Amino acid sequence: MHYVTFSTSSNPGPRLGARVGNRVLDLQAAQVDGRRAAPDTLLELIQQGADAWAFAAEVARAEVRLKPNATYGVDEVRWHAPIPRPLKNVFCVGRNYAAHARESAAALNSDPKLPDVPVFFSKAPTTVIGPYDEVLRHAAVTSQVDWEAELGVVIGRAGRNISASEALSYVFGYTVLNDVTARDLQQRHNQWFKGKSLDGSCPMGPVVVTADEFGDPQNKRITLRVNGVTKQDARTSDMIFTVASIIEWLSKGVTLEPGDIIATGTPEGVGMGRTPQEWLQHGDVVETEIEAIGTMKNVVKDV
Ligand code: MG
Repeated sequence: MHYVTFSTSSNPGPRLGARVGNRVLDLQAAQVDGRRAAPDTLLELIQQGADAWAFAAEVARAEVRLKPNATYGVDEVRWHAPIPRPLKNVFCVGRNYAAHARESAAALNSDPKLPDVPVFFSKAPTTVIGPYDEVLRHAAVTSQVDWEAELGVVIGRAGRNISASEALSYVFGYTVLNDVTARDLQQRHNQWFKGKSLDGSCPMGPVVVTADEFGDPQNKRITLRVNGVTKQDARTSDMIFTVASIIEWLSKGVTLEPGDIIATGTPEGVGMGRTPQEWLQHGDVVETEIEAIGTMKNVVKDV
């Protein structure tokens, strides 16, 4: 199933929906025998567990088939991030593709040795924006805004000390995100949180594809274009730490909860690693795409 959070001109509040083909079904409005198909938000649906996920998916498929007029065209709705305000910071992994780790080390004149364990940091929940929203470039705060296409993992059930062999069974689904980064702040503050946490620096979406449909997270193409020019083009098979390994490491002594989001690192081709270096500017159009999920399109806006 492909879950979305959307709104319409007549219903401006974000609503939980399902995308089936080119249609978006309003899951909040769908009912079977007086029972609602789903709660108000994707976060609540995830928290309700596997039986609720199965019921919502069953209703979505039937409603789209039986009541095509109860749906919207994908171009008729406003798309929000699937989880517009996560409960906690977005967990992130740094330097998780070898070629990107090397380009970063070269740009920063730092140790090119690949990490032995995952490098973890986080982005504030207030960074999250929709898949077609404007990325904010805080011109008075930073002049080095960079892109980072990443596979996002949405946790489906709570766990701690999860083994790698069990880890993927804790995943609800997958999404696309762009870990937009203020490189000058990332360096200046000596710790990554500030440079990763500016408002509007985490576009997410357009959908969450459930784990059963997505299949192997280590065999997907991930690309990013700026103004139509390809900057990143890699496969998730190039990750140093797989999704399963990331979950194992992150959950050591740390409880992961339903709705938690993990950004799994970016491949090579960021602006910092290019010669000359490239930074996003007002008006730039950034497209971030992952096979089997979809493409986000964000215009950069100076604020
Ligand atoms: Mg990143």
